[in-house]
Amino acid sequence: MKSINPHSGRLIRSYDTQDDTQIDRQLAMAAAAFDDWRRSGFADRASLMKRASGILRERRQQLAELMADEMGKVVRDGIAEIEKCAGCCDYYADNAERFLTRQTIPTDAEDSYIAFDPLGPVLAIMPWNFPFWQVFRFAAPALMAGNVGVLKHASNVTGCSLAIQDIFRAAGFPQHAFSSLLIESANVERVIRHPAIKAVTLTGSTPAGRSVASIAGAELKKTVLELGGSDAYLVLDDADLDAAVDLCVKSRLINGGQSCIAAKRFIVDKKLRPQFERAYVERFARIRHGDPRDDSSDIGPMARIDLRDQIHQQVEQSLREGASLLMGGKVPAGEGAYYPPTVLGNVKPGVVAFDEEIFGPVAAIIEADDEDHAIELANQSPFGLGAALFTRDKARADRIARRIEAGSVFINAFVKSDVRLPFGGVKQSGYGRELSWFGIQEFVNVKTVYHA
Ligand code: NDP
Repeated sequence: MKSINPHSGRLIRSYDTQDDTQIDRQLAMAAAAFDDWRRSGFADRASLMKRASGILRERRQQLAELMADEMGKVVRDGIAEIEKCAGCCDYYADNAERFLTRQTIPTDAEDSYIAFDPLGPVLAIMPWNFPFWQVFRFAAPALMAGNVGVLKHASNVTGCSLAIQDIFRAAGFPQHAFSSLLIESANVERVIRHPAIKAVTLTGSTPAGRSVASIAGAELKKTVLELGGSDAYLVLDDADLDAAVDLCVKSRLINGGQSCIAAKRFIVDKKLRPQFERAYVERFARIRHGDPRDDSSDIGPMARIDLRDQIHQQVEQSLREGASLLMGGKVPAGEGAYYPPTVLGNVKPGVVAFDEEIFGPVAAIIEADDEDHAIELANQSPFGLGAALFTRDKARADRIARRIEAGSVFINAFVKSDVRLPFGGVKQSGYGRELSWFGIQEFVNVKTVYHA
């Protein structure tokens, strides 16, 4: 597997993949580690998790630089990502015991209660876009619940994968409580089917999710899937336009546009659409894209050349289908997987920029006749991850929020994950929830104990 710097196009390092014997040995060790780890107490787990958060904070600069080199995230954003991971470790260290405490339920038994037991080794298949955050938001609750983690990270961020394994080991976790497998996606099926693996979580594209879920389904192993999104941002006729444009621009550019919960479709009431479009283009034109190690860059390159090319194809196809190019849309000359901030107008259902997820700095502006039309357009998507509404009327916002088919709706704010709130989607954005107490309860056996 190769780590290639998307800014320079240069090879950083090649890694040998593990063969079947090495994989089997590692999974057997994960199963053995589980036998001990499940018997550890919450206090011991919490103190190790706190050490992991301390190590993350100590190493934040070097870890952010590693992300910049492997997948092009600007260093400032990388530091924020590492801080968020540390906060997630602290949160579950502080709250896991409370979330999983035994619940006594009065019945006709002398004593009956619900206990939450760990499941065993959980396979985590993770993407490159938030190479630390996606892993920690799984690992912190899973390990605190008494499970062990086996990570199959995206092939282009193997350095990050090994750095995460090293953080848990340096914190004092048992060696195989968390381990990284170096395998390509073609070998994932074997791992899912392995008897040591008890459940699977995947964050990534819908096709990857579909494949993993079907194999895990055949094995009757539980899955949590956090897949793509095409989040709709509804700008209603009573919105504060200036604030809405600002947040819509920020959200579209999260991680250079490569985020499942970045704003992708801007559905704007027809009364505001021309002004929105002008203000949006004006702000997008100020965005500096360049070397992710340079402090003056707002966004870096796309994570890989093939992903950049895919974005460009989607833009060209959208133009052929009737969208108009308001800015950007040209692949820059020179090294690196760069794609310029791009704005498409006149986007409608049937245009790729409406129907598919575009995983880069490409905004699609869509005109809505009125509130009902805006809701209809928002729901006219195979995805259902997040959505945002811009209106000055709270009651109106609450009413509309309940009609949106998405795992979260943010009002006058952009969609973001918060460790205290559940995160996940509906429709082709996946199922199951991460974070909050919902997240830690995904990979446990909810056990009824009944004393006659
Ligand atoms: P993938 O979904 O292909 O990769 C995500 C992870 O899944 C990686 O670890 C990958 O491994 C693994 N994987 C891929 N295919 C399979 C499979 N059939 N079985 C098991 N594991 C698999 O994302 P890409 O990197 O190719 O990006 C393509 C698109 O996916 C993006 O343009 C975007 O639309 C979407 N995406 C969504 C993300 C999100 O946060 N929801 C994150 C990343 C991508 P390997 O790298 O070895 O192939």
